[in-house]
Amino acid sequence: MNPTQNAPSMPIDIYLASPRGFCAGVVLAVDIVELAIKKYGTPVYVKHQIVHNPIVVAETERKGAITVENVTDVPEGSVVVFSAHGSPPSDYEEAKKRNLMVIDATCPLVTRVHNEAKKYAREGKKIILVGHRGHQEVIGSTGQTDMTLIDEREGIEVPEFSDDAEVAVLTQTTLSVRDTAAAIDDIKDRYPNAMVRNDICYATTNRQEAASQLAEMVEMVLVIGAQNSSNCNRLKEVAESYGIKSFLINGPEEMDRSWFDGVSRVGITSGASTPESSVAAVIEAINPKNVIHIGKGDENITFRLPKELEPEAGTAARQ
Ligand code: SF4
Repeated sequence: MNPTQNAPSMPIDIYLASPRGFCAGVVLAVDIVELAIKKYGTPVYVKHQIVHNPIVVAETERKGAITVENVTDVPEGSVVVFSAHGSPPSDYEEAKKRNLMVIDATCPLVTRVHNEAKKYAREGKKIILVGHRGHQEVIGSTGQTDMTLIDEREGIEVPEFSDDAEVAVLTQTTLSVRDTAAAIDDIKDRYPNAMVRNDICYATTNRQEAASQLAEMVEMVLVIGAQNSSNCNRLKEVAESYGIKSFLINGPEEMDRSWFDGVSRVGITSGASTPESSVAAVIEAINPKNVIHIGKGDENITFRLPKELEPEAGTAARQ
């Protein structure tokens, strides 16, 4: 289908959020796969989608990556990259049994949550993780040590520990800032001395702030990205919390012309795993009268490559 068939017929002003799109963790993960292919040849296996975006995954596969869901799907002796979302220790153990060379693309901000969890467990604290059951990051984090998951979508049921228990609260990095605050309020009501870490990452926080600014200025928000991207879904919810309609789409082919009826101001943002080419394609299809930039602008954060790959590309992943 020609994407322009879905485009609005009335003149539109686009309000474009910044920051949007790739975060430093996603840039790092994609660089790791590309450099691993360059260094070790094809195929390089990737356990779980390297990031939650079909275009990014397809591009890595075009270059020679093979995405699998489980470590047991990787042939013995192969090179495997573990995705940006983080993995439980059982995956590393299985990889060792299969004699795999593991290159870890876990975002350093997720690794920090893993390290916090292990430290609090050593200190004898009771750990609560606020996160979404079944999300890959939560599978990785809950595997680190014993902890109780609170998924605010299922209702906030605060676990019963003894009154003198020391409680530490961790969070998934890509949650809604607002919903997480509500869950933490409930935990604090029960355990006033609970130690609360704010693990929602800079990229999630900045994109949600920019989406809030957008939502105050427009009649509809398009979030560009994948349905299985946590942070894209949270951006859509942020827009909806302002009472305006919002749609999460991969690209212009998923737009519906009827969405634009009676609309002249459209906000656009994208999640941390969405390539800018997808945003550009949507803007091109809408063919707006004006593009107005909203938000505090680009971030300047980079993460180091893992030591196995550093000589291939200098000292740090590009931003
Ligand atoms: S969204 Fe945040 S935690 Fe996830 S990869 Fe990006 S920087 Fe890391």
